[in-house]
Amino acid sequence: MGENDKKKKNAKSAYLRALELVISRSLIKYKIYSKQLLHIGGTELAIRKIVTHPAEILEKSCKAVVSFDKKLTSILNDMYDTMIEFDGVGLAAPQIGLDARIAIVDIDDEFGTIEMINPRIIETSGEQTDPEGCLSFPGLYGEVTRPNFVKIEAFDRKGREYTLEAEGFLARAIQHEIDHLDGILFTTKVSRFLEDDELKGVEIE
Ligand SMILES: [Zn+2]
Repeated sequence: MGENDKKKKNAKSAYLRALELVISRSLIKYKIYSKQLLHIGGTELAIRKIVTHPAEILEKSCKAVVSFDKKLTSILNDMYDTMIEFDGVGLAAPQIGLDARIAIVDIDDEFGTIEMINPRIIETSGEQTDPEGCLSFPGLYGEVTRPNFVKIEAFDRKGREYTLEAEGFLARAIQHEIDHLDGILFTTKVSRFLEDDELKGVEIE
């Protein structure tokens, strides 16, 4: 297969993947809305406001989580609802204005929702260059080169430490979110910003 055909095929599969994501996200959104309807007059909405650039909280290194308590659980739940509401594939705590090393990723694959508390990258290898977007930069997309493989250590909501290995798009999303916890924004890594007509199928982190 020629380089051009390969590119076309990749673009097509990225587009289909995004389409599937939108459909399944709509179903999840419906579930969230039904849940909220049941709570009318009761609990507060779980969707938080997204902090957009420029904002101080987006460019600072966040504090480590020390208590794995109910508050953490509720933050993680809100982050999930917020990520789904805005069709993202990941979200970091500073993006909802919180100074805490908490991030989630969900690219709708077999990993489900990955909750990363105090995550650390312990190994990377390879290279990938692909379009990236960010919920804190509405409408802005650019090509970013990152390692193709990543191995991380993190804690789950109950404070249990785990190790996770990922590659390709999942590895990209994980690295994008962990960058957020160090105040590093994807725009500082963009090699080329994308024009509107190049944007089909690009997912936002
Ligand atoms: Zn982002």
